[in-house]
Amino acid sequence: MKKTVLVVEDQEMNREILKALLEDRYTVIGAENGLEALEILKTDSERISAILLDIVMPVMDGYGFLEEFKKEPEYNKIPVIVTTDKDADETEEKALALGANDFVNKPYNIKVLLRRIDNLIDMKESIYRLRDAERDSLTGAYNRKAFYRKAKEIIKSNPEEKYQIIASDIEKFKYFNDAFGWKEGDSLLKFYTEMLNGIFENKDVLFARAHSDIFYFLSKESDNIINTLIYATKMVYQRFYEAKISFKFGVYNIEDKSIIINSMCDNAIAACNQAKLTYDHDVYIYDDALMSKNKQNIQITKTMKQSLMNEDFKVYYQPKYDIQTNKMIGAEALIRWQHPELGFISPGEFIPIFEENGFITELDIYIWEHVCGFIEKMKNEHNKILPVSVNVSRKDIYKEGLPEILKSMVERHNLSPTYLHLEITESAYMENTENILEVVRRLKEYGFIIEMDDFGSGYSSLASLNQMPFDTIKLDKSLVDYVGNENGEKLLKFIVQLVQSLGMKITAEGVEYKEQLDFLENLNCDDIQGFYFSKPLMLADFSAKLTENN
Ligand code: C2E
Ligand code: CA
Ligand code: CA
Repeated sequence: MKKTVLVVEDQEMNREILKALLEDRYTVIGAENGLEALEILKTDSERISAILLDIVMPVMDGYGFLEEFKKEPEYNKIPVIVTTDKDADETEEKALALGANDFVNKPYNIKVLLRRIDNLIDMKESIYRLRDAERDSLTGAYNRKAFYRKAKEIIKSNPEEKYQIIASDIEKFKYFNDAFGWKEGDSLLKFYTEMLNGIFENKDVLFARAHSDIFYFLSKESDNIINTLIYATKMVYQRFYEAKISFKFGVYNIEDKSIIINSMCDNAIAACNQAKLTYDHDVYIYDDALMSKNKQNIQITKTMKQSLMNEDFKVYYQPKYDIQTNKMIGAEALIRWQHPELGFISPGEFIPIFEENGFITELDIYIWEHVCGFIEKMKNEHNKILPVSVNVSRKDIYKEGLPEILKSMVERHNLSPTYLHLEITESAYMENTENILEVVRRLKEYGFIIEMDDFGSGYSSLASLNQMPFDTIKLDKSLVDYVGNENGEKLLKFIVQLVQSLGMKITAEGVEYKEQLDFLENLNCDDIQGFYFSKPLMLADFSAKLTENN
């Protein structure tokens, strides 16, 4: 397709001449003066590749046009060539000062004219291609790739200087987006970027939007910019005062300049995640403790696949009891990892890592398969089957065809789906309601029993309980621990009644003391799971308990 050139020229004759000269190569549109040209740009700037501009015109002359033209950053991409009658140095100088890019003299030398237009268009286009490639399209800040490249250059070319990388992350940004909409989320990120542009203008601070709500900063260690950053976030809080968000910062002081820039940023992120774990600190500085944790995480990731093949992952079973009869009525399958080098690692440590790197789904499917095998064995050996609950990670929900995988699994083991209960954590539901509802609906169609795990541990809203198609609610241990506290007990009572009035069952988790058991029994809670009755047991021990129970 031909590129378009806008000819701004009051003399019709001159416009026609230019049109005739350029038509072979360009689509030519005309404007009679500066004002008319601005009107055209308002709607059509995207398709205009260059402007030929006369200076002396009625209504708005070439200078007036240039003054307005340079106010709109969007127009910056379009080269302007001024057409002058003769060698008029003064005109040229003034137009240049106003931002014109080149000149041609009348009468035109067609070859020179075409060459100049071509060159300018090429030059501007390549500058902008470069620019677009290194900018984030939402905020206009540098993107992650550009940050890596530029930070590397800066660090390398100042070998004596000490630098630090800071990562900022917005806590509860997801909830902000859910509550106020994506558009508002976008404008928050844009506003934050504007603040940063303002305070770091002319300062030696490089920053970028790495992805979603994460930003990276590179500065000299001595500049101590963290307070400046906190100041910027205060302005964001002021502007979005209804948002319950908070900014968290991770600082990595670059000790070893030989490690790659990506890892330096990862360290800043690790520190930032640490800051997110604490309520009272918004800033965490990368330290030795984090470093060894990081090393362990790397080792975990490196060895997980082999460990799965070597069957180092074991399924444990924690019995669940009927609160009235004190009989075992089921169990929850819980994973244990006996690591060949690191020893026993708790699921609280490795599951978040697997959720991050995606391995969790492979592991969960492995566990479900084991559990189905075990239930099948129970069916064949004892004549009574107890249902077993398995955990379904928030990440599993995204697995294409998850309900069908589970369905064919129970079919292969000749089991009714009612024997495999599925526990989905409350926060997964809050994070991703639509998606989960869809998956849960299909699972229920296939006959599975769905339990909401960890209820009360996070952001659950009591009001949305009745929209949740769950069969059972598992009260989180933190709620059970309220027993003994007057107000806490009132809340517990209220929750149990509400859940039961909605026709769902209640299992209380983490019950350790007789006092808790008695209180929950009084409330007519359905089932109990906790150390009071039993810890999670290895298969052999659990099987023995089953026999005893029968
Ligand atoms: P969860 O699903 O809430 O599991 C209950 C956790 O509470 C288990 O921790 C269990 O050992 C512990 N627990 C049970 N009763 C008591 C008690 O009376 N007192 C105390 N203090 N703790 C009790 P565990 O096994 O360390 O698992 C931690 C979390 O890891 C689980 O929390 C679950 O979110 C996750 N997880 C465990 N196994 C799997 C799995 O196979 N797949 C997935 N995706 N996640 C799993
Ligand atoms: Ca669970
Ligand atoms: Ca739980």
